[in-house]
Amino acid sequence: MLRLTDIKLPLDHAEQALPAAIRAKLHVGAQAIRSYSVFRRGHDARKRGAIQLIYTLDVDVADEAKLLQRFADDPHVRPTPDTNYRFVTQAPEKLAHRPVVIGLGPCGLFAGLLLAQMGFRPIILERGKAVRERTKDTWDLWRKRNLHPESNVQFGEGGAGTFSDGKLYSQISDPHHYGRKVLTEFVKAGAPEEIIYVSKPHIGTFRLVTMVENMRSTIESLGGEIRFEQRADDLLIETDAQGTRHIRGVALASGEQLRTDHVVLALGHSARDTFEMLHKRGVYLEAKPFSIGFRVEHPQSIIDRARFGPQAGHPLLGAADYKLVHHCRNGRSVYSFCMCPGGTVVAATSEPGRVVTNGMSQYSRNERNANAAIVVGIEPSDFTPYDGSGSPLAGIALQRFWESRAFELGGGTYEAPGQLVGDFLAGQASTVFGDVMPSYKPGVHLTDLATALPDYAIEAIREAMPAFDRKIKGFGRPDAIFTGVETRTSSPVRVRRDDDCQSLNTRGLFPAGEGAGYAGGILSAGVDGIRVAEAVALSIAGAYQAA
Ligand code: FAD
Repeated sequence: MLRLTDIKLPLDHAEQALPAAIRAKLHVGAQAIRSYSVFRRGHDARKRGAIQLIYTLDVDVADEAKLLQRFADDPHVRPTPDTNYRFVTQAPEKLAHRPVVIGLGPCGLFAGLLLAQMGFRPIILERGKAVRERTKDTWDLWRKRNLHPESNVQFGEGGAGTFSDGKLYSQISDPHHYGRKVLTEFVKAGAPEEIIYVSKPHIGTFRLVTMVENMRSTIESLGGEIRFEQRADDLLIETDAQGTRHIRGVALASGEQLRTDHVVLALGHSARDTFEMLHKRGVYLEAKPFSIGFRVEHPQSIIDRARFGPQAGHPLLGAADYKLVHHCRNGRSVYSFCMCPGGTVVAATSEPGRVVTNGMSQYSRNERNANAAIVVGIEPSDFTPYDGSGSPLAGIALQRFWESRAFELGGGTYEAPGQLVGDFLAGQASTVFGDVMPSYKPGVHLTDLATALPDYAIEAIREAMPAFDRKIKGFGRPDAIFTGVETRTSSPVRVRRDDDCQSLNTRGLFPAGEGAGYAGGILSAGVDGIRVAEAVALSIAGAYQAA
């Protein structure tokens, strides 16, 4: 099979244009091409009005060796790499103890699935509820202002990405093609097949709910066990004669203890109580940079027009996204994050008396507004005022401070504090909405956001907005709306691990995914789940071979 890259065709090309482009590229006749498939389809929108589709194609040709020789100097004609996933090992006949996975977000889901597929029958603990019940609890906050601290946007089956835009791309390096395994399993679980080949796939919230349920059934059918509403509250750690610490089990909030030598920690970034427990138990943690800011909402139509010009609305292009960055005079960088085309802003707190924003959308991405976080990068040195002890958990103290402040500025009813962009730039409180209506539920309380974040962050966002307006006309329109605060952009801690994916100072503990600082987003969390499942499997298999 040959892989042809960078095949460019106009947006509205006929179906026959693809085989014609292959023949033209390879200088062969129709009889030389047995079949072809689309590996990737992206678009180049740099020339608005002349947007092109860019294909990567896998082509089965009659005389592959000869063609490869003929195109030896052409980087766009190469043998198709083998991207099939192969298991690293299989479970031994008898397992002394089953591995335990804590957390059923994308990382825990893939760690659990892979361990189950290799025969290790994992036990997966999830503090939140199964996804349908969790959906009801989440909507209870959005509709009726009732927060369920153990069942919300952050906690429950499917993890943080369940109520999301379901973007499934990442910039991680992936030499083993684990990302393809993630996408393939998602398709088996009900995702549209196009996620395998479009360059920026997304699935939206409703489909994710069903997919997560289907993956749960697969894990269970392979002997895995999934326990909801079972929070891991403690780790049982034993120190051997050489002073090495080993995991020996997990204690649950119910008081039950599970004996195991292998624990995958797939906690996500919001399990603050569990991070505190890890710190207390002496597991090596460190503070990690993350970002804070606001969500901004604009009419989706201005983003579509700015990006796609006259071709805005074309079904192959969908709702347009954007990615912006500005380096400020005060040394900070401001950038757009987790952009949700045609979506809504959602209440994403997991703690009472706090307000946090995030974004989601449905597969159709056809809501009125585009939203994205506009965030400022912060470093552990910025955390000191909030927890002078220099604790690795100081970033959490910072998050809590500003989330509580947002609750207060929003009126203390889980409404998000909001301000029109024009008023924010002019330094005056907002009192009335313009044409852009915010989508955040249960509501937005207009106010002055100048005291909703540290001064350096406010200053940086004020400088960045006019710069962003120069890149996307209308981005700085006075009636665009900020809501806040956006504090859960990534984990504030890293639970460091070694090359074999085990904690630096606790053997048998496998920190994984976003909460441990090894992923950011659904796809990369799934990829990390696979990587860690392989490490657990090899560790168990190795232990058996050695015994
Ligand atoms: P999580 O998904 O956070 O899962 C961790 C799980 O562990 C949770 O279910 C939690 O309940 C459980 N848990 C925690 N502590 C314990 C404990 N002590 N015992 C038992 N269980 C525990 N990413 C994208 O790539 N694309 C998007 O479009 C996107 N949109 C998003 C929209 C929203 C509203 C949010 C909140 C996030 C979004 N993200 C998106 C980010 C993405 O969801 C995360 O990067 C991803 O879910 C991280 O996966 P994870 O498995 O590492 O952690």
